[in-house]
Amino acid sequence: MAATDIRSMAVLRLDDRTEPAPSELVEAMVRFEVRYGGLWYPAVGPNGMEYGLDGDATVHRSPLGLAFTGIMDGARTSGIDILADGQTAWGPGRWSYRVIDRSVDQRLESHALLVAVSDWCHRTFTCYTPRDVNPVVDERRLPQPVSEATSPTEFWWLDDDADIAVQARLSAWPPERDEWTLRYFARTPAQAAEANPTVFGATVHETVPALWCTLCSQLIEPGRTCHRKRGR
Ligand SMILES: [Zn+2]
Repeated sequence: MAATDIRSMAVLRLDDRTEPAPSELVEAMVRFEVRYGGLWYPAVGPNGMEYGLDGDATVHRSPLGLAFTGIMDGARTSGIDILADGQTAWGPGRWSYRVIDRSVDQRLESHALLVAVSDWCHRTFTCYTPRDVNPVVDERRLPQPVSEATSPTEFWWLDDDADIAVQARLSAWPPERDEWTLRYFARTPAQAAEANPTVFGATVHETVPALWCTLCSQLIEPGRTCHRKRGR
């Protein structure tokens, strides 16, 4: 959408009517569309990540303030909202509406990092925490944090020299607790053996080997490593 079209068509949708959208949100939509409109890249799973207003400059009220929907998340098969301050937010069904990404740029950094390491050997764990509690409490065994890829729902640590990466991603948040997917990535199978002491040493919360790997779309025998995909 052209900036002039956004400025002329932008509306705030209320329950049974629309009114002119506040200028702060209009300009947030313009900034978003100019920078990210039309961006698409593949994600984990069959669908891609799609960015842009798609001809619809509608603002709505969200539990975290005014927002517009600008991202079609193929992995979650759902639209993601952008808040006035550039954070993204989402909350399907009985899951609470919460901030997902600090910014679209941070979201892109985290996806790029996942793509970069996704064909490394990896072990996957599920960690359960109380609501709004981060899974990692002791970073001493972890590589350096990657702040540009990190958000309230996703944390990354990376050792570029040793080729080790660790990801903690909030994967589900039913009302009773938060469920995080922890992934330990390494170039070699021997390095991947370090996953268990590293991951279990980094958290005090209930953590178990995951039974399914969404990166490989396959069942995992408990404690086993997914190996690099051949031919990549
Ligand atoms: Zn896997």
